[in-house]
Amino acid sequence: MAQYQSFIGLEVHIHLLTKTKVFCGCPSSFGDEPNTHVCPVCMGYPGVLPSLNIEAMRMGCTVARALNCTIPERTWFERKQYFYPDMTKNYQISQFASPLGQQGWVDLEGKNGSQAIKKRVRIKECHLEEDAGKMIHTGTVSLLDYNRAGVSLLEIVTEPDMETGEEAELFIRQLRRTVRYLGVCDGNMEEGSLRADANVSINLPGKGLGKKVEIKNLNSSRFVRLGLNYEINRQGEFLDAGRAVVQETRLWNENRDQTEPMRQKENAQDYRYFPEPDLPVFTPEAAFLKRVEESLIELPQARIKRFEKEYGLNEEHAELISDEKALADYFEEAVSAAAALGLVKEDGANRIANWLLSDIRHILAREGTAVSAIGALKLLPKHLAMIVAFTVQGKLSGKNAKQTLEAVVESGRDPELIITEKGWEQLTDPAKIAEAVKSVYASEGAVFAEARAAGDNLKRRHTLTAFLVGKVLAVTGGRADPKIAGAQVEELILERSEA
Ligand SMILES: [Zn+2]
Repeated sequence: MAQYQSFIGLEVHIHLLTKTKVFCGCPSSFGDEPNTHVCPVCMGYPGVLPSLNIEAMRMGCTVARALNCTIPERTWFERKQYFYPDMTKNYQISQFASPLGQQGWVDLEGKNGSQAIKKRVRIKECHLEEDAGKMIHTGTVSLLDYNRAGVSLLEIVTEPDMETGEEAELFIRQLRRTVRYLGVCDGNMEEGSLRADANVSINLPGKGLGKKVEIKNLNSSRFVRLGLNYEINRQGEFLDAGRAVVQETRLWNENRDQTEPMRQKENAQDYRYFPEPDLPVFTPEAAFLKRVEESLIELPQARIKRFEKEYGLNEEHAELISDEKALADYFEEAVSAAAALGLVKEDGANRIANWLLSDIRHILAREGTAVSAIGALKLLPKHLAMIVAFTVQGKLSGKNAKQTLEAVVESGRDPELIITEKGWEQLTDPAKIAEAVKSVYASEGAVFAEARAAGDNLKRRHTLTAFLVGKVLAVTGGRADPKIAGAQVEELILERSEA
């Protein structure tokens, strides 16, 4: 294939977590009995008046600011006219000439598979609109559920600055994390709370944009990557063969792993946009803008960087811990509790990150608890900090630390009480450990002899020593300090070989 330049732009729709719809008081909850959250306004009956849900506007502007967009002094709504059975009004209230967020940018940063990505993607605009209803096709009939009609939807449109499916996937992942952090969208792509359409064109380098193809039905970030890479390849083969790419809309078919034609693209003028006469122009006041700025908490990309710098986490761990706000909050709380218990900040932080990303993640998966619900665990951040501190201070062996963790998850009780009650405190008394070593010597004398005979074959001797230390630990119920036990076993091996 010849070398082509590709241009990818994304249009991402997110459902805002407002309690009510964007222009009426109907609840915007999902999964309820069909057509129970409807009223004359969202059904577009003649003579009714929409009124703007200010919370939807605040959430929309917060996302816009998080994406470095400017909020204009005047923003308003337009009617976008088209007919479709899922929209009884025959028009959608949307924004066209002055959307609530304009000309921002996002820095993509991170790894996607083997690709290291660092790139600025310009955001063209963010606009607020209403969602349509839902059409359900069953056999020969189609059913309509209008509960979703009028639900607040924010559309985020990028400039065609991305070049690979990997970059687009990373964009979706970063955006999803951001809107979840801001608490304005649950980011659930399977349920359609975050939907992405992609457009892509390719051309010979320096020739500018090619014929644009839009891909719909990309309901996971993985499909965004697969769909775009498929399409870049398909268009390249067309151009190689001297054929022209047709401007059209295509659907991603996840069963066949390919895009398929859907319809030829309409033009913006087909919608006959005109200003919505029933809604006033919105001029954000100082108090409103202040609330927007106050909603801008530390965003995930900034947090990842801070975790690397402040706690010395590696890039991968910083990203995994920051992926969910609840996990990152839990982590920071545990780290500060560990510091209060005398742990060195970076050491404590890395140990806590390891626990969170291994044992605790397994526990959450086992219990069917989402990572975002980590706050519901009976194991509090201070409990985790104690367990980590006891391990560092030699009070708990690795094995008993895990058992203690499980016991706290189960009961929510103080780890110190559990350790005392169960007698799990690490054994550091050399005389007591010596007794255990002696009993192992009695049963495993042959292994001691073999270790002795291994002489300068250090590898063999280490293997056997480790085996014997394991036996000593077993005899003490996992309590013996492995360092002391190891030294005593070594000593015994050497002593006898010198004798
Ligand atoms: Zn309504």
